[in-house]
Amino acid sequence: MQKFLEGKLEVLKRIFKQGHDLKVLWLPKQHRLVELGGERYLLSGEVVGSNIRIYESTKNKAIDTLVHEFTEHLIKEHFSKPYVMLLNVLTSALQSTAYKEQEEVIKALTEQLLKMPEVQKIIEKEVEPDCRDGTRTREGDKAEK
Ligand SMILES: [Zn+2]
Repeated sequence: MQKFLEGKLEVLKRIFKQGHDLKVLWLPKQHRLVELGGERYLLSGEVVGSNIRIYESTKNKAIDTLVHEFTEHLIKEHFSKPYVMLLNVLTSALQSTAYKEQEEVIKALTEQLLKMPEVQKIIEKEVEPDCRDGTRTREGDKAEK
């Protein structure tokens, strides 16, 4: 699984031409509990320094988390760092709201990203044969014959 995730991370780096300093660490069932503005969140993964830590144990959840954290890292690095710095001086309640909103946006972005044919094609290609779901039909199936 560690090697599998490392392969996927390389795919994401190639697609986005970003995040070349990132590494992935698979830490199954070591979910970290965080408290923000009085609410508790159980993390599926997080970026600590240049490590993407994945706490999910199943393959599908782990890959979703990897894409989510990779996307979140790029967005934070390039767009929201100044805003995060600003937010740090505001109340914890506001931080909690901002966190939730940010998570919603990243969730939507990740979902759309995973639907893109280009991404599916590349991710799919490197999926190990034992975890392929042969019962599903996809748009690309017709063209392949
Ligand atoms: Zn997130």
